[in-house]
Amino acid sequence: MPPLFLAAALTLGADPAPSTKPILLRPARVYDGVEAKPHADWVVLVRGDRIEKAGPATDIQAPDDARVIDLAGMTVLPGLIDAHTHLLLHPYNEAPWEDQVLKEPQALRVCRAVNHARSTLLAGFTTIRDLGTEGAGYADVGIKQAIDQRIIPGPRMLVTTRAIVATGTYAPRGLAPEWRIPQGAEEADAETLARVVRDQIGKGADWIKIYADTAQGDRGIRPTFSVDEVRLIVETAKSAGVPVVAHAQGKEGMRRAALAGVETIEHGDRGDLEVFRLMAEKKVALCPTLAAGEAMSRYRGWNQRDPEPAALKSRRAGFKEAIESGVTIVNGSDAGVFAHGDNARELELLVEYGLTPAQVLKAATSAAAKALHLEQKVGAVRAGLLADLIAVEGDPTQEITALRKVRLVMKEGVLYLQPNGR
Ligand SMILES: [Zn+2]
Repeated sequence: MPPLFLAAALTLGADPAPSTKPILLRPARVYDGVEAKPHADWVVLVRGDRIEKAGPATDIQAPDDARVIDLAGMTVLPGLIDAHTHLLLHPYNEAPWEDQVLKEPQALRVCRAVNHARSTLLAGFTTIRDLGTEGAGYADVGIKQAIDQRIIPGPRMLVTTRAIVATGTYAPRGLAPEWRIPQGAEEADAETLARVVRDQIGKGADWIKIYADTAQGDRGIRPTFSVDEVRLIVETAKSAGVPVVAHAQGKEGMRRAALAGVETIEHGDRGDLEVFRLMAEKKVALCPTLAAGEAMSRYRGWNQRDPEPAALKSRRAGFKEAIESGVTIVNGSDAGVFAHGDNARELELLVEYGLTPAQVLKAATSAAAKALHLEQKVGAVRAGLLADLIAVEGDPTQEITALRKVRLVMKEGVLYLQPNGR
């Protein structure tokens, strides 16, 4: 955390707008976000907020006024995408989720979120889909505006505002039944769903997030909305041009969400080959959030030198079935449960759980951009796309931990981090 903070402080006052001069990035190789093999000796020319050219150094002349940034030994790749974050949460070993929702003033949570946004960007993540403020109302809408207006540094945000739960199914819970407890998401049911979906869209939601199942105390993980209710949500959102994302850990919640037309399913902890195949058939992508599961195990006392707890073992086995099913896997970490800025943990775990580094990089670039309907803007190193680019030391297609050595971060042509603190 402190080094990132320092790096941010050094670059924050820099140039808040895209450079007026073209910039030529000269790395050892370029991973373009699509092809598994990186291109040796490619360069990338950026003008304004766009990638003007990307290709072999021999084919691309730097304009006379270009600023050339030498990135010897480094790989340039598209800015990374994390499709599942909560900027308004901080790690649960610092404060339990219930305390964050019930006791932390919204202004405090927003101040933390400002730091979280900066840490995320400087870790190389230039786009996030933030999946619910968990009791902090519509604060994500304002944070997104602050980033877009370059008041604070942070990733491009797709926001969901409060998210939607079926009445009586979410948390905090556990007080006497006569008390009405504020909830971490907005409650709605068959009669009110359309109104709540429209209201959240009206207030700025880019996606509608629902909880297709929840953990309900002793009753375990239970599906919430019926297939017809989820259909109503999807139809209402779709007619406004807004896609729907569902939290679902259990098989039945996943099945209902997939049948009703949601576009991505989050977690999928207890999914099996059958339901992952259904998702593949319905073109529903999976955000596995492996890093959140690992963090929760650590908070319960597990340390990585000990044998893996049962929950992680079964997660690993389930994930093998996801891979086998052919379901599209998109990088989504659930950062907030663990530290913002540590988002690369998800990519490391995706490799540990059986994907190749190149598959994982695609899941965090072009595949994620497609799942989020951003493929015409970001997710690849290609002429005409926005200049969301990062440079890391080494070759992440060989060794995914190279993503921990981010040396340059550019978003829409603006440099937020560059080698040698310049
Ligand atoms: Zn989440």
